[in-house]
Parts: sequence; structure tokens; C-alpha cells
Amino acid sequence: MLKMDVIRLIVFVCCMMLLQTGRANSSGCSDVNFVQRSTWGASSPRSTTSLAGNLDYYIIHHTADGGSCSTQNACSRRVRGIQNHHKNNERWNDIGYNFLIGGDNRVYVGRGWNNQGAHAPSYNSRSIGISMIGNYVSAQPSSGMMTALENLRQCGVDLGKVKSGYHACGHSDFSSTLCPGSALRSLVNGWGRCDR
Ligand SMILES: [Zn+2]
Repeated sequence: MLKMDVIRLIVFVCCMMLLQTGRANSSGCSDVNFVQRSTWGASSPRSTTSLAGNLDYYIIHHTADGGSCSTQNACSRRVRGIQNHHKNNERWNDIGYNFLIGGDNRVYVGRGWNNQGAHAPSYNSRSIGISMIGNYVSAQPSSGMMTALENLRQCGVDLGKVKSGYHACGHSDFSSTLCPGSALRSLVNGWGRCDR
């Protein structure tokens, strides 16, 4: 009997430890389905510039390189193509965006939370740039993509990378560009968080 009690106690303690571990990992980021660079097949950046935490801005873009993508394979191929274009044609050090969101509702890690992007001149050091894969001049991103975008924004706050009172704007709120497309821009401005 005593032996059974000891075994029960051990099982109980182990279960509690597992529960605690699960809790420690479940910030707002647990809702975000990240695809890391090694998974989508990124090439190495030529160089990186660190990005401070506690940032003021999220800046939303679209990739404008065609329709959306619906599988991890197809979205990964698109992200690799964008990285090639940014490195080889634009001559940037890496893919310009911090993150990209696919029609598969996954979040593809570009420069991530800790490295400065190349997506909005004079705001790159103060913002996280997120690009929705597809063209949103007339069509809106799917509700799944918008939910992924919402979860990603909260994740940045939970990690202390972005201020809880952050501003969120479309690229065209800062420069003369069609990006992120008027359909997406009106959704972004509907959040009421764009204050420059
Ligand atoms: Zn843009």
C-alpha cells in the first residue's frame, strides 16, 4: 500500500510539472503557427541590425506578387521568391519584412522580432513590418489570415517586443504607395490604431 502511495505521489508531481511547463509556454504566441526560416528554406542574411524591444508601430504590407497561397509548401516557395527578389534585385541584406502571413494562416518568420526590417524608410527601427501574401487592392485577406495577424500583434505585446499601446498602420499611411492595397488598408484603419 505504501509503495502504491509513493507511486501515486510521483505520478501526481510529474503531472503538475507538465502542467506548469505547458502554462509557461502558453503566452498569446501559442495561437500563432510560426514557420521558422530553416523550415521555409531561407538563405542567410548578408548582415543584420538589431531591433530594440518596446516598439511603437506595426506596419502592414501586402506582397502584391499575385494571389494568395494555401499550403505550407506553396507559401514557403512564395516567401523564398520574395527573399530572392529583395536580396538580389533590391540589394537588401535579407527579406525586407519581419513576418509574412500566408493564406494557410501560418506566420512565416522573415527578420523576426529582433532584427530591423527594410519595409518602411525612417520607420524600420521603430516598427515590425508584417506582409500579407497576396494582392489586396480590391480583395480582402481571408478571415483566417486576419485572425493570424491579430494573434501575431498580441504575441509581440506579450513578448515585450511591441508596446501594448502600439500604433498599427498600412504602408500607404506613411508613403505614396498602393501597399497594402486599399481593401486591406481599410481593415487596418478600422482598428483605429493608426496615429503617426
Ligand atoms: Zn509595403
